[in-house]
Amino acid sequence: MHIRGVVREKPEEGEEEVKAEKVSDGVYVVHSDSGSEYTVFYNPRLRRFVCTCPDYVYRLRPCKHIYFLAKTLRGGVHADT
Ligand SMILES: [Zn+2]
Repeated sequence: MHIRGVVREKPEEGEEEVKAEKVSDGVYVVHSDSGSEYTVFYNPRLRRFVCTCPDYVYRLRPCKHIYFLAKTLRGGVHADT
């Protein structure tokens, strides 16, 4: 399953186009325009999504990739949970 969309970190920097690919249940690989690739996966112990990007790892706060997936999945793209 492929998901396409844009994320916006800072409005003044514009939007970055991202593509997400579901690799297994609750696990997504997010590719961004800038060539980065991060894994976003559901952590049952924390009961939330976590991401492998520096933004998430350093701040431990939901990053743009998590927001992107959360928004997209809520929109009905993902139906098997
Ligand atoms: Zn991230």
